[in-house]
Amino acid sequence: MEEGKFEHPFIDNLVGIPHGDSEVKNATGKSVEEYMRHTGSNKHEGVEIEKTPEDIEIIQFAIDSVNEVMKEYGREKDIELSMNHIHIVPVGGTEIVTQGNSKKAAQASTRSSLIIDRDPSNIQFCLRAFHEILHLKSYVALQILPPPEENSQSSLKAYRKGFMVVSRDGKERYFTDLEEGVIGMLTEKFFNEKIKSEILFSEELKNKGEVPFEFSRQEEIQLLNDLVDQIFEKNIDDFKSRDEILELFIRAQVNGNLLRVGKLIEKTFGKGSFREISEGNYPKDTHHDR
Ligand SMILES: [Zn+2]
Repeated sequence: MEEGKFEHPFIDNLVGIPHGDSEVKNATGKSVEEYMRHTGSNKHEGVEIEKTPEDIEIIQFAIDSVNEVMKEYGREKDIELSMNHIHIVPVGGTEIVTQGNSKKAAQASTRSSLIIDRDPSNIQFCLRAFHEILHLKSYVALQILPPPEENSQSSLKAYRKGFMVVSRDGKERYFTDLEEGVIGMLTEKFFNEKIKSEILFSEELKNKGEVPFEFSRQEEIQLLNDLVDQIFEKNIDDFKSRDEILELFIRAQVNGNLLRVGKLIEKTFGKGSFREISEGNYPKDTHHDR
């Protein structure tokens, strides 16, 4: 069957409804696009704070930097992200709004929006913005789940987010470590290669006290690095450097195509190993026993 190209400002694909039809109404009576535009720009009443011109400048720097990463790794789609889908809250606000599910920052692919605690450090604030924007602008597919019972409503859920895969009942999530590992690693790279030489942050860097910046997802970054090292060791004749392998993982996260990484993992660790990793079971000699 021929399928038309799926055009949507916020997502790469939508499953669970006739293919390519972005006008299908969901439970709210709005099209998926209208629904995402509406819920994504909804302010968090009583918690959200107005963005200052400085906040906007920092966020824009994070957006531009994410766009550069997307381009570098061959991402063709540019997911729309306007300032009113980015919500700033005081320190501790994210935890309140997400009812304890997230701390300091979070994003929602079903709304294409994000929320960030306004850390007093501009750099810390920017690092968190970059991390969440990278999640949002990576490959994303959503699914519409049918109503669980009669008279209830269908719901819009994540289906794919970069590396991450969600089961078609919306309950199981796979490859979450790799998604966070790649994003965490790219956020550290962003700090070293962009923030450190950016005039916007020179004052803060100069006056930096003892308090270190917080880099999240250290455990996932370690898992990713271990995996890449092992693959490189076992395929030393096929690759010039470990960075070549790392690049395959970054491309998979950004473009959502897991095929090449999957094949390489199966070739390296044997049949079924990609599935094992999807569930968080890493090859035996990875440092982390999980
Ligand atoms: Zn994350």
